[in-house]
Amino acid sequence: MWPGLATLPWRWAGGAALLLALALEALALARGWRRPPPRREVLFFPSPVTCTAALLGGPGRAPCRCPLPHGDSPLGRLLRRLLSARRSLELCLFAFSSPQLGRAVQLLHRRGVRVRLVTDADYMALRGSQVGRLRQAGIQVRHDHESGYMHHKFAIVDRKMLITGSMNWTTQAIQNNRENVLIVEDAEYVKPFLAEFERIWEEYNPANYTFSPKEVEQK
Ligand SMILES: [Zn+2]
Repeated sequence: MWPGLATLPWRWAGGAALLLALALEALALARGWRRPPPRREVLFFPSPVTCTAALLGGPGRAPCRCPLPHGDSPLGRLLRRLLSARRSLELCLFAFSSPQLGRAVQLLHRRGVRVRLVTDADYMALRGSQVGRLRQAGIQVRHDHESGYMHHKFAIVDRKMLITGSMNWTTQAIQNNRENVLIVEDAEYVKPFLAEFERIWEEYNPANYTFSPKEVEQK
C-alpha cells in the first residue's frame, strides 16, 4: 500500500535523521582510529635481568654484545614508558636506588624534560641512593620532614600517564620482590595524583618549613 502524500515529508525527515546519525557514527569511528588508544598496562615484578643499554643509550648505537639477554622485560617496559616523556616528569618515591631508573631520569633531564622528585628524608641518604646524583645533575628534589614515611611510589609522565604500584625504585625490588606496577593514561586517575603531587611539593618547599612551631606559639 502506497503512503498518503501527507506522510511523505515525515519519511524523508526520518531518513535524513538516520543518515545524519550514521555520518556522526562514522566520524566518531574515524576519530577513534586516528587517536592512539590510551595506554593501560600492568607489570609484575621481579623482572628477569635484561640488558637495558639500547634503551638508555639512545638511538644510533651499535648492537650490544654483552652476555645479558636482550629481550623484553617488565623493567624494559617501565623504562620505555618513562623515556616517552617529552615535557614533564613528576616522581614521588619512597626509595630510589636503581641505577637503570636513575640513568633514565638523568637522560630525560638532559633532554630538557622538567623533572621534579619528592622523596623520603630517611631513605635518600642511604648507600646506593640515586637522589644525591640526581640533585648533582641539577634535578629539583624535595623531601619530607615528618616522622611518618613519604611512602608513595608513583610517577606522572607529561601530565597524562600515571605509573603507580607497590614497587620502590630499587634493584632489590625490581629483581627480587613480587611487586605490581600499573600504567594508565586516564585523566580521571592522573588528575588527583597530580594535585596530590603539587600539594606535597609545596608542603616540602624549604621556604615553607616551620622549624620551631612551639617558639612561635610562645610569642
Ligand atoms: Zn647488552
